Amino acid sequence: MIEGIKVPYFAFRDFPAGIEQEVNATLLTAIDSRQYILGEQVAAFEKEFAAFVGVARASGVGNGLDALSIALKAVGIGKGDEVMLPANTFIATANAVVHAGARPVFVEPDKDTYNIIPTTIEKGITTKTKAVIPVHLYGQACEMEPIMQLAASAGLVVIEDAAQAHGATYQGKQAGSFGKAAGFSFYPTKNLGALGDAGAVVTNDTAVADFIMAYRNYGEAQKYHNKLIGVNSRLDALQAAVLTAKLRHLSEMNIERQRLAGVYLSELEEVGDLILPYAAKGCSHVFHIFNIRTRHRDKLQQYLSACGVQTAIHYPVPLHLQPAFKYLGYTAGDLPIAEELASASMSLPLFPGLKASEQEMVIQSIKAFFRQLS
Ligand SMILES: *Cc1c(COP(=O)(O)O)cnc(C)c1O
Repeated sequence: MIEGIKVPYFAFRDFPAGIEQEVNATLLTAIDSRQYILGEQVAAFEKEFAAFVGVARASGVGNGLDALSIALKAVGIGKGDEVMLPANTFIATANAVVHAGARPVFVEPDKDTYNIIPTTIEKGITTKTKAVIPVHLYGQACEMEPIMQLAASAGLVVIEDAAQAHGATYQGKQAGSFGKAAGFSFYPTKNLGALGDAGAVVTNDTAVADFIMAYRNYGEAQKYHNKLIGVNSRLDALQAAVLTAKLRHLSEMNIERQRLAGVYLSELEEVGDLILPYAAKGCSHVFHIFNIRTRHRDKLQQYLSACGVQTAIHYPVPLHLQPAFKYLGYTAGDLPIAEELASASMSLPLFPGLKASEQEMVIQSIKAFFRQLS
């Protein structure tokens, strides 16, 4: 741990107790199998993950970015197409659109849930719009039913970005099971994390799944017979074995995240000008990130840092104002909600295994900050 940090923003802990040993044992078995890339372990994980999400097929790929860009390619998105996505997301969502050959169109999130909604999506539709990517941001499922209805009436394909939302549900159905396809990331710190890079695309569409299975492996449907010019974005056996073991504990880990979030929600209610995560009707939240908002964000972050409490900012620059997307021609003021979120959002430590004493320190430090402010 870094000197002076009493509460880390994130740490890998043995939660539930024994999971580390289980993962280590699984790794040894996977190493013994001597099948390192794709193969049986990967197929077994794909089967279990598809069943978990409640879809027909899951295809393991190299990471979450590839999952999204390959999903877009699989549904026929490419040159000349526009794809809508929220401006307040991790940059991978937008990069995936560019890597698929299309143009990202940024839209505003809802000011309470931080997720996109039909009224904001409608504003971004042009004659070139082909798809929309709802991002289940911070682990809270988007209100998918109205989004699916709008997409159907406007003729848009829905590709979900579920990279932060393993296990989140909308009206009891898993995030990732609504759209034509969905991309998941298993980056180590995600709610379901590998011990390296990993990702998956899930879908109910056989043709989409078959395309991905071939495309991720040089376009091979059969060894050395290539119908497509594919890429190398394969899941390896060791990551698949780790993910299979951890998937069995995902619910338990998510419940612990929700419990910790509940403590923050009750303890921080009406503290200063804090705005806490909003519980949208029917949308469960698995708290990949516990986000708060305050006008005093930068000062609060400095104060907490001096107390030894590490925090993070998701995300300091909205995507439409990132230098990388300058060519799209956006300027400050174009998406005021996304811009406000970027200036006021902060993320508190929340991960399975966070100790009660650590969480108490975060809460007391925040209360102390607002007391000295007034
Ligand atoms: C993590 C993440 C991704 C990308 O995942 P990688 O595995 O890092 O490529 C995409 N979208 C969102 C919202 C994410 O949080």
